[in-house]
Amino acid sequence: MILNPERAAEIAANLAEVRRRMAAAAERSGRDPAAVRLVAVSKTYPLADIAAAYVAGQRDFGENRLEELWPKVAAAKVQGLDVIRWHMIGTLQSRKTRDAVGPLALIHAVDRVKIAQRLSRDAQAAGCVLDVLLEVNVSGEASKHGFTPSEVLAVAAELLALPGIRICGLMTMAPYEAVPEATRPVFRALRQLRDALALRFPAGDWRELSMGMTNDFEIAIEEGATIVRIGSAIFGVRNG
Ligand SMILES: *Cc1c(COP(=O)(O)O)cnc(C)c1O
Repeated sequence: MILNPERAAEIAANLAEVRRRMAAAAERSGRDPAAVRLVAVSKTYPLADIAAAYVAGQRDFGENRLEELWPKVAAAKVQGLDVIRWHMIGTLQSRKTRDAVGPLALIHAVDRVKIAQRLSRDAQAAGCVLDVLLEVNVSGEASKHGFTPSEVLAVAAELLALPGIRICGLMTMAPYEAVPEATRPVFRALRQLRDALALRFPAGDWRELSMGMTNDFEIAIEEGATIVRIGSAIFGVRNG
């Protein structure tokens, strides 16, 4: 694989700038910058771009379609990029949960009871346990996937009992806002929901809050994000 040096330098510079802004946001809010993990969202971008980010020290990568994820996982391995932690950040179809069983660091978007049940069943059949987050539709936008906050509280006990998945926390997507500050109530509400779950269901592990993208990650970090999912600020604006 041949890396274009200019492209590689551009990605390295973008990554450094994103990391600098992440650390500044953490420090502003009295948090340890090391407590926030960056998932570089590489969807639609080629393996050479992933390799450039890898050379610049990036290890967590996110994809939103299994059809794109698995070929990249295989190709990365062939290229020797073998300590990547892969994140599935997109919505899963209930007919295809079996295709999500594999060497993933985290599945971010379990958005319905049925998906959780099927993932658990398929993971058990494969003899493994999957780390997952529950996606919450905090804003109530019809176009967004996820449980409503009250649903999560109602089904948490049932989901915690599923043997093939391990719930590690919550994920949300804020609506796009021209003024990023406007997303703050969404991120704050996700953190408060997490805190309520941790109180009501102390046997569960609720540590992760996957929230914040290119447009709003600094606000999300100020509100407690432990994982931000950032694509365009690292790799550039996607076409389509
Ligand atoms: C594409 C995507 C992102 C990254 O979006 P950017 O705005 O490019 O940072 C984050 N999360 C999910 C679920 C996505 O699909």
